[in-house]
Amino acid sequence: MTKNYVQKVSNWGNFPIVEKEIKSEESYSQIKNYITKNNEIIARGNGRCYGDSALAEHIFSTKKLNKFISFDRINGVLECESGVLLSDILEISVPQSYFLYVTPGTKFVTIGGAIASNIHGKNHHFEGSFCEFVLEFTLMNERAEILNCSRTENQELFWSTIGGMGLTGIILKAKIQLKKIETSYIRQENIKAENLDEIFNLFEESKNWTYTVAWIDCLQKGKNIGRSILMRGEHALLSELPQKLSQKPLEIKRKFSPTIPFYFPGFVLNNLSVKIFNYFFYAKQRSKFLKNIIDYETFFYPLDAINDWNKIYGKDGFIQYQMVIPKENGKEGMRKILETISKSGNGSFLAVLKLFGKGNPEAYNSFPMEGYTLALDFKVNKKLKKLVQKLDEIVEDFGGRIYLAKDSMSKSSLTDYLQNTRNPKFNSLQQKRIKNN
Ligand SMILES: Cc1cc2nc3c(=O)[nH]c(=O)nc-3n(C[C@H](O)[C@H](O)[C@H](O)COP(=O)(O)OP(=O)(O)OC[C@H]3O[C@@H](n4cnc5c(N)ncnc54)[C@H](O)[C@@H]3O)c2cc1C
Repeated sequence: MTKNYVQKVSNWGNFPIVEKEIKSEESYSQIKNYITKNNEIIARGNGRCYGDSALAEHIFSTKKLNKFISFDRINGVLECESGVLLSDILEISVPQSYFLYVTPGTKFVTIGGAIASNIHGKNHHFEGSFCEFVLEFTLMNERAEILNCSRTENQELFWSTIGGMGLTGIILKAKIQLKKIETSYIRQENIKAENLDEIFNLFEESKNWTYTVAWIDCLQKGKNIGRSILMRGEHALLSELPQKLSQKPLEIKRKFSPTIPFYFPGFVLNNLSVKIFNYFFYAKQRSKFLKNIIDYETFFYPLDAINDWNKIYGKDGFIQYQMVIPKENGKEGMRKILETISKSGNGSFLAVLKLFGKGNPEAYNSFPMEGYTLALDFKVNKKLKKLVQKLDEIVEDFGGRIYLAKDSMSKSSLTDYLQNTRNPKFNSLQQKRIKNN
């Protein structure tokens, strides 16, 4: 391969940054040729994973695989190439009364990335993860063969690719099931919780809500550990919309999204600024209980409102640490984790707690298992590795797991659930790191 394609590349956390070859092709014959000629390849969607999973010696970008193939409006079945973004799907599906069954906290991920990470949303306890709504996909494997994979055809490859982090080949296109909606709005309730007991009770009480998620102030100590706001929601019915909104019930709200123009200097984000942010976030909602109707963008994608927000963490980048602790030990495990973080002084602007339902045993490479999952952002600094090691130990003691789509520092024993889904052609820097540590 020529040197032309070598460039600096990182995923959303801007850590690590590496110089590797990136190539994008659109015809299957060119992709075949690429796979035949190279080793140590990994597919890359939109680089919205945080760590090093979409990085390798040879990075195959799916950005040219960006075409829609078909949309069955009667049954809500959509077929598209793997580089199509969820944001593009919503643009065409919402006005036609369809939504994604499962969506992560950003809409800027590709269909290929969603399958490879078997992403989850705020509704895992209710509807499961992305794979439940994948009907079939086409994959190019290590021998450059093109294979259709579904629950009835090439089943083993279907299930190992789901959550397989790109290690089985390149997903070329997929067919997914969409969800019928009456409006583009969400009926939302926000409830403040003073501590961990209260927030866990609220999750239990809200089990029959389709969407639940909590923002947690991870710098609280003692009796205030777990201070948080639970947000729960349902797709609003037409009859629930106020008169003004019911005129255009499937409207997509267009909003101005400012862009962070440069990397913030390292000192901007510190323990104090995180404390102040957390204070205002909690205080902003004055009453214990708030009820409203909001557009889906505000409910699902608050972070997408600011472009390139990852730059606020500075040039050294940041990691997102996401773990799941089995339900039976959930509260105790979370308490230990929050105490450890609070003591370390490594505050996280964004700490999000969710409830997972039972994992799908067939999707054996996937992260979700029944329990509580917490995701936290940490600015990269010299002390971070030590904190991650401590958190890893707690997660391991409680029988939990680490989410590979976010990981760039954790130890291998926590990632064992990605069983031997490796072959000589496809490998990522993440898998190499995990194998070697
Ligand atoms: C703000 C934000 C919020 C998020 N919230 C959530 C959340 O709520 N839930 C959740 O589950 N995740 C969440 N994520 C993580 C994100 O959904 C996943 O990392 C997703 O996989 C990113 O998709 P991508 O297209 O950017 O893929 P990339 O980041 O480019 O790649 C991710 C993985 O998918 C593989 N891959 C990508 N395309 C293909 C393909 N065509 N064929 C084979 N393998 C492929 C890559 O090799 C890599 O292992 C969030 C990320 C951000 C930045």
